[in-house]
Amino acid sequence: MKVLKFGGTSVGSREALELAADIIGQELPSGGLVVVSALAGTTDQILKAIQAAARGELGAAGTLLAALKARHLAAARDLGLEEAVRPHWEPLFESLAGLLQGMGLLWEATPRSRDAALAVGETLSARLLTALLAARGQEAAFRDVREVMRTDDRHGRARPDLARLAAAAGPWREGLAAGALWVTQGFLGSAPDGSTTTLGRGGSDTSATLLGEALLATEVQIWTDVDGVLSADPSLVPQARPIPVMSLREAAALSAFGAKVLHADALAPVARAGFGLVVANTHRPLGGRTVIRAEAPPRRPGEITSVAYKEGVSCLRLPPAEDAELLFQASTRLLEAGASLYGLLATPDGGLLVARGETPDSEAVLADLAASGLWVERGWAAVALVGEGLRAAPGRALSLLGPLTDEPVAAILAGDTGVSLAFLVPDHRLAHLIPRLHAHCIE
Ligand code: ADP
Ligand code: ASP
Ligand code: MG
Repeated sequence: MKVLKFGGTSVGSREALELAADIIGQELPSGGLVVVSALAGTTDQILKAIQAAARGELGAAGTLLAALKARHLAAARDLGLEEAVRPHWEPLFESLAGLLQGMGLLWEATPRSRDAALAVGETLSARLLTALLAARGQEAAFRDVREVMRTDDRHGRARPDLARLAAAAGPWREGLAAGALWVTQGFLGSAPDGSTTTLGRGGSDTSATLLGEALLATEVQIWTDVDGVLSADPSLVPQARPIPVMSLREAAALSAFGAKVLHADALAPVARAGFGLVVANTHRPLGGRTVIRAEAPPRRPGEITSVAYKEGVSCLRLPPAEDAELLFQASTRLLEAGASLYGLLATPDGGLLVARGETPDSEAVLADLAASGLWVERGWAAVALVGEGLRAAPGRALSLLGPLTDEPVAAILAGDTGVSLAFLVPDHRLAHLIPRLHAHCIE
């Protein structure tokens, strides 16, 4: 049993959707599960509409909703599927309009109502792909992922409840074993009270691997818009190379440090369940691809596979005389509010907490900590050199930092798995430094 996940750009146009349908035909001749993201840009646009509504600007929210609707209807029309999707889409547009109206009246968008609104994006695209497959004679049915994807109630950054997910997935396992071809939404889950949750931005990759685990899949394929995982973000390093084979540890470090191609939480289910993970390009199905597996491929000692970065990171510093407990409390508060932690260090020379506010709540905690006297420096970026080769030559890794000699580097940290060397650089140096590090360590 395979799970195929298609990202936003893989369902964003007629050409892309038809390529996706071809791939589904080839990869899932006797059934399987297809997980989709919203059409590229949809989640951002719904978020903009939510923000407008929460400011009481219902006119602006309405304009954004009308544009969203027009774009989706144009995509369906392009495929001759307008009539096929209409009965499924109308209630979705109506519910989104109703949610925005409510937010506009209250001048407030709660995390719970935000998730309910965001869910419309993934549901629209899943319905569209189901209709396309049906029109092509590929017998497919839509299944709402909220039937099985049980999570906690942290709206906007929900964590899966693995035991409840595995139990709820029983009927799906049976249906798929009997040869069903189902299309479902990525990104979404269902809280204990039945309300809709989301797994964090880019979370559809994690939906696919969690479903792979719960459904005992043999392989999960992530179909996106690049030839697999590359040696760096191609928007900063156009000559970045595809990586044909990676270890799970490398992929986990790369995504944890920001490579957007795989969501940071997507690798844990692969490690637990042991299925194969493939990243490939919907637009060039026969082009390069990356196979990610548990065993490390052969790497030269000191060899770096890829460079990753995450901008928008903050450093919280504590003077030597202060009680380190303050930093631990700050980290707990930040984590509870949905921030990512990149480092926590208490030394005789003072303490350092490196965090990224991922949610409006965690941004508010950062502002509060700054106001309460902790020294909070914004404007840093976490950079990581990643490669299994570092395990064999951890000391040599420091020599790779040559291009940074004259840079204000902070907090050099080697990860516990031994496959990453991470440090902080000022945000505004990224565009200069990432290509130089790539040239020095990889090219
Ligand atoms: P999808 O919509 O398919 O989920 P994303 O935009 O979330 O796609 O992720 C794919 C994008 O990730 C690529 O288009 C690329 O710009 C970016 N990216 C950043 N780092 C890497 C990397 N190391 N390898 C591949 N892509 C990367
Ligand atoms: N549509 C969601 C987002 O834009 C989830 C995803 O693309 O994985 O964050
Ligand atoms: Mg993505």
